[in-house]
Amino acid sequence: KELERSQQEKFAITGRIARVIAHEVRNPLTNILLAVSQFKQGELPTYDENLLYVDIIERNCTRINQLITELLHSTRMSEMNMQYYIVNDLVKKTLQQAADRLQLNEIMVHQNFMLSDALVMVDEEKILIALLNIVINAIEAMTPGKGILSVATELHGDKVYITITDNGAGIPEANKARLFDPFFTNKPKGTGLGLTSTQNIIINHKGAVHVESEEGKGTTFQISFPVHDQ
Ligand code: ADP
Ligand code: MG
Repeated sequence: KELERSQQEKFAITGRIARVIAHEVRNPLTNILLAVSQFKQGELPTYDENLLYVDIIERNCTRINQLITELLHSTRMSEMNMQYYIVNDLVKKTLQQAADRLQLNEIMVHQNFMLSDALVMVDEEKILIALLNIVINAIEAMTPGKGILSVATELHGDKVYITITDNGAGIPEANKARLFDPFFTNKPKGTGLGLTSTQNIIINHKGAVHVESEEGKGTTFQISFPVHDQ
């Protein structure tokens, strides 16, 4: 009976992945094919019109590419490349990578780094993805021009804590249990893979992710992992 159920669950998950990929990849592909057929008909006289269709192709390719990257990161299969890093540097790099979006949305950033030079042993590329996913969600949850993003690092015992707080929409109680589920999203163009990746990456680093959120007030994500002996 148990085996039967886990088989069924596997089928259910495979079915969901197949449906999402079919939908998420087919939509941009359809757009690309439509744009290509415009070129083939050779009825695009002006440079501007050509550019319009090239933009459509570019945007839709980027979209598929992003989906594939996120899919790969949301699985646990890729290899880990572990090295020592200063926690604060990882957080600063994440904010640098989000700089354009932060600026575009006129978000105020408060930094509170209580760790001076604590070291962690991590896969930098993966940790940056994990943090960036949280920061991007925070940006997307906040009203442009009114957003405040607070980022803090702390050391308690043998663990480092990275806390990312936004004053955005918050998360409805009913959604809290599903946040980390693959493909859970309430965004029209979301993939629902961001937090799945983040959680997998952090778990692979023997860390943990915690969320606190209040609707209408904002959300705090806290990541912890073991600090390396200095
Ligand atoms: P996506 O961003 O593609 O929707 P994620 O896995 O990154 O997928 O996030 C899943 C969902 O969790 C989001 O669609 C959103 O509903 C919710 N969420 C995540 N972070 C926040 C946040 N900071 N504030 C409000 N809702 C959030
Ligand atoms: Mg996201």
